[in-house]
Amino acid sequence: MIYDYVVIGSGIIGTMIARELSRYDVSLLVLEKENDIANHQTTANSAIIHSGHDPKEGTLKAKLCVLGNSLYNKLEKELDIPLLRTGAFVVAHDQDEEKMLDQLYQRGLINGVGEMMLLSGDEARRQEPLLSPSITKVLSLPTTKVTYPWEVAIAALGNAIKNGATFQRNSEVVSMNYNDGVYKIGLKNGLNVQTKNIINAAGLWSDHVALMLEKEFELTIKPRKGEYLVLDRKAKDLFHKVIYPLPTSSGKGVLIVPQVHGNILLGPTSSPVSDPNKAGTTKDGMTYIKDHLKKLSVHIPYDMVIRTFAGIRASSTYDDFYIKESSFFPGFYHVAGIDSPGLTAAPAIATYLINEIIKLKANQKENFDPYRVKPIPFHHRSDLDKKKMIEENPKYGHLVCKCEKITEQEIIDAITGPTGNETIKGIKKRARAGSGLCQGGYCESRVLKIISKTTGKSLDEINYYAEHTPILMKETKKHD
Ligand SMILES: Cc1cc2nc3c(=O)[nH]c(=O)nc-3n(C[C@H](O)[C@H](O)[C@H](O)COP(=O)(O)OP(=O)(O)OC[C@H]3O[C@@H](n4cnc5c(N)ncnc54)[C@H](O)[C@@H]3O)c2cc1C
Repeated sequence: MIYDYVVIGSGIIGTMIARELSRYDVSLLVLEKENDIANHQTTANSAIIHSGHDPKEGTLKAKLCVLGNSLYNKLEKELDIPLLRTGAFVVAHDQDEEKMLDQLYQRGLINGVGEMMLLSGDEARRQEPLLSPSITKVLSLPTTKVTYPWEVAIAALGNAIKNGATFQRNSEVVSMNYNDGVYKIGLKNGLNVQTKNIINAAGLWSDHVALMLEKEFELTIKPRKGEYLVLDRKAKDLFHKVIYPLPTSSGKGVLIVPQVHGNILLGPTSSPVSDPNKAGTTKDGMTYIKDHLKKLSVHIPYDMVIRTFAGIRASSTYDDFYIKESSFFPGFYHVAGIDSPGLTAAPAIATYLINEIIKLKANQKENFDPYRVKPIPFHHRSDLDKKKMIEENPKYGHLVCKCEKITEQEIIDAITGPTGNETIKGIKKRARAGSGLCQGGYCESRVLKIISKTTGKSLDEINYYAEHTPILMKETKKHD
């Protein structure tokens, strides 16, 4: 078969583009090199749906960030994704910083950010009492929100599949050639795919994928790592808004970010790295975060840190999002160098690509269904419902993750659903098992056994995350 479109990459950009394309009467395949959706940038970021106060005026980043922010309100209804309307404060400490804050306010106005306000330090502290007393002025951004990025990507791709798209994971694109209007894509697993159009949404590898066909490419990815600390849900009520310092040339700075499930994120750092696969945290990174947060608040409970993590940004030598058709290969579209605010802009990037770059003329499907029916977590149900469900299926009566109250049947659903996954991290992304205070200390071995039983794989074949990351190395005790 010759597909109309192949999308390379299932981060937030590839999945949003796939969902948008699935509205149309076109055949569509999404290829992902990893064993799961959203394993790179989309899995490890600050989760902020930015207002759009920060990108330079007139850039695609500015235009698509502001539009993307408003499109998330629609996505919330259609895909039932979590969206916490936190609002945000950008803070200043002295006259020089106040001037910069005023300029940021003007930039926000030009970018079309709504509802902004300038507040005095005291006015801001009435809303966020733990803000540093040295803060003198604040830019308030009520349209800033927070989401759960990998759920958005999984929901978008699930919806695209419901509307006819096909998804292949473990399918790394390693070669391409073009002949007479048809592209032949070679995969690492030895298979080939044919298509009339390719959308390169390969994130940190988007320059590499471009150069599989292009002789030269306008941008080079320069990965930048961002490290974080995560506070337990008990810290939930300490901060209600996203708190930003003033941005600098290396980014938005170290932030305080309330999360949709009650945790608080602290970070990120921003440092260049050579290997986009190496997202470890460092002592220096943690120290950097703590030092920089002193200017935002001196009341951060570091004894509530439950984990650290890092993500790697697809920053590039191009000063903006790069969303263009190849000058030499018709139907080869690059959506490259999508660093922050890529999560925010993703739904707008998808419509911009399809309407303004591809200028797609295909008919829209009459039966396109924009909705996802999200399963209600078992522990949110009424006692009567719970009793009935356990009577019908005792696996609902078996609590596997005590911190997040996740049952065996919910783990099985996360493995077997249309966008299911059989890694420990994949289950965490879908069912939240292992996301709580004990960070999987209690449930991980139990989840492992359920994956093994459900998939028929042996315990030592089950990966934590990517391929070749087994949890069990060798058997140390024999049971009778
Ligand atoms: C530390 C950090 C903080 C951030 N904070 C925010 C924020 O708060 N708000 C915001 O709006 N944005 C934020 N961002 C930016 C945002 O996360 C990214 O812009 C967005 O996730 C990019 O999505 P993507 O789909 O382009 O990339 P990715 O999520 O990296 O997806 C690309 C996919 O392509 C796949 N792929 C690559 N090569 C191949 C190949 N050859 N064959 C098949 N598949 C391939 C990869 O495996 C991957 O799954 C942050 C980013 C980082 C790292």
